[in-house]
Amino acid sequence: MHTAHALTPHADAVPTHEPAICTTGVCVDIDSQRILDEVDFVAQPGEVHALIGPNGAGKSTLLAVIAGDQATTAGAVRIAGRPLAEWQLRALARERAVLLQDHSVFFPFTVRQVVEMGRAPWARTAQEDEDDAAVAAALTATDIEHLAERRLPTLSGGERARAAFARVLAQRTGILLLDEPTAALDLGHQEAVLQLARERARAGDAVVVVLHDLSLAAAWSDRITLLERGRVVASGTPGDVLTAERVSAVYRHPVEVIRHPLTDVPIILPVRQLG
Ligand code: ADP
Ligand code: MG
Repeated sequence: MHTAHALTPHADAVPTHEPAICTTGVCVDIDSQRILDEVDFVAQPGEVHALIGPNGAGKSTLLAVIAGDQATTAGAVRIAGRPLAEWQLRALARERAVLLQDHSVFFPFTVRQVVEMGRAPWARTAQEDEDDAAVAAALTATDIEHLAERRLPTLSGGERARAAFARVLAQRTGILLLDEPTAALDLGHQEAVLQLARERARAGDAVVVVLHDLSLAAAWSDRITLLERGRVVASGTPGDVLTAERVSAVYRHPVEVIRHPLTDVPIILPVRQLG
């Protein structure tokens, strides 16, 4: 039943009209090098937002800024409407989960133990009751149930990547920050990861995902932000951002953009001189 009371937000509730993530004028300097330059970035609840750009463009750095793991030189970062600096670490860990690009540093934990680590921020909260269900669901979703008792060093790169992704899913946060989650995966598992990202977005979460495969980004994301040398070159729908001229210029290789005959989704093809 809808009552006035039911519409009154709980004291801790995040105002729903706020973007999940909002950066304005973010700059990052490392060793007097400008790594991010006046970056404005907005991700809304319910969207999959792909972050693309050539190697070294600043994608991982921007993700680390949003995660609260990288200090900024200038600018503002708001998570769910609140300045990042005001977030306590544990509260932040219940708000956003991070899949790092480099998860090659691993210890001889079992897959199940790694996924269970995703539940640590929820210890001694009401959601602790969901621990077992969240871990089981994440193992199933990433197709690694059969590996649950295996130790990480014994896994293939792709299996390890799926275990890392399962940990992030099990954390059950409203914001997912995924740095190249598909890099080590075969075609089927790439599609599965992005399908899961979409499902989380449909449930109201904000998903920011770094991708190199532009056709994959076009097919699965609502919005795309293109970075080049620390700057946002374009941000918008896949169709708006992924023009042949822009992609060719930014990636320094000629491409053609065609449209899928049924879905009209852009497909980005490098121009090749074969034979
Ligand atoms: P991307 O993820 O888009 O490939 P990164 O965000 O990892 O790019 O890096 C952006 C640029 O910043 C690169 O040129 C990289 O070499 C540089 N960079 C990142 N971290 C550091 C650091 N700790 N010290 C020096 N340079 C860094
Ligand atoms: Mg990177």
